Amino acid sequence: MNIPFLDLHAQYEFIRDEINPAIQQVIDATAFAGGSFVEQFEHEFAAYCGTRHAVAVNSGTTALWIALAGLGVGPGDEVITVPNTFIATVEAIIFAGATPVFVDVEEGTLNMDPAQLERAITPATRAIMPVHLYGQMANMPAIHRIAEEHGLYVIEDAAQAHGATCNGQRAGTWGHAGCFSFYPGKNLGAYGEGGAVVTNDDGLAARMRVIRDHGQSRKYYHDVIGWNARMDGIQGAVLSTKLRHLDDWNAERNRHAQLYDELLEDVEGILPPVKAAYSGHVYHIYPIRLTERDRLMQFLNQEGIGCGIHYPVPVHLQKAFRNSGYQEGDFPVAELSALQELSLPMYAELSDEQIQRVCEAVRDFAGSQLDARSISRASRG
Ligand SMILES: *Cc1c(COP(=O)(O)O)cnc(C)c1O
Repeated sequence: MNIPFLDLHAQYEFIRDEINPAIQQVIDATAFAGGSFVEQFEHEFAAYCGTRHAVAVNSGTTALWIALAGLGVGPGDEVITVPNTFIATVEAIIFAGATPVFVDVEEGTLNMDPAQLERAITPATRAIMPVHLYGQMANMPAIHRIAEEHGLYVIEDAAQAHGATCNGQRAGTWGHAGCFSFYPGKNLGAYGEGGAVVTNDDGLAARMRVIRDHGQSRKYYHDVIGWNARMDGIQGAVLSTKLRHLDDWNAERNRHAQLYDELLEDVEGILPPVKAAYSGHVYHIYPIRLTERDRLMQFLNQEGIGCGIHYPVPVHLQKAFRNSGYQEGDFPVAELSALQELSLPMYAELSDEQIQRVCEAVRDFAGSQLDARSISRASRG
């Protein structure tokens, strides 16, 4: 049985009868760049998140950058984020002209550690950019309180957290801006690239709409220097169609995670993901941790099981950051997770049988690894 890491085709088969006419509608209306289908999706996504506005753009990376630009975060400003994220979080800070400052993450959730956040604040700090990693939100009550105390913006990187909650409140709605990616493999994925920023701030929403359209509020009259960051019409129609299924798909992911948790609970050497008490998780990723990560990955691949690593190199140790002043050892929790994390197949269309097969393979591997056993006892305390 071959089990891919991700199976976008299975999802398309399930929604084909809705998606095909939705795309055809855009072609019939020739509403290709921005336009009514994008506007409709913006209304629907804002309503879903529970915010006043959603501003659709052409990627999650753009969403992060345009939120910073819209808030006026730029040269001379420091933005605090975490090193165990996809590079886009940090690219956006740098493209806005600001300076990224990293803090380490909590052992369990691997999300921003509020205690370390507090210590990293300087007079130059303007914003905090927590990342809701793997579909689980960061500790937003603590982060929000620190931001209030110091008068800082909070911009959530919710690219992996469509529909996730913290104490029942949705991702994207805790900060001044919540940034989403609709990259095809995300919980809500376009048929191409896409992103959005949600906010309750009318002024910020208006500024982002102008920036994403060449700085113009009227065609060919440019008030500020902007960019072309518009969403395609086809993506708007696809996302409207898929948004209707998002809660069901997230519920399926939760069911799968529960089955994984049960089947992996007593496997020596394997640490299943930690779910915080405040968390409504959407399991964008199902991450396990073990010391023999690379060998398990190789073993699973040989068994026809796809898996991934999120992420093999923390941002502060990337070659692109070699002149940033950061070095190995600066963020031990993030660095250890980069060595130990393995992402198992996770998508709504997985069958119980497939999950059982994955866990059987993990169990076979663990059973043959004597050294993995002793290590797991040590790291479980
Ligand atoms: C996917 C992702 C992004 C970037 O989104 P794109 O749509 O690919 O530009 C940013 N941050 C995180 C945490 C992501 O997972």
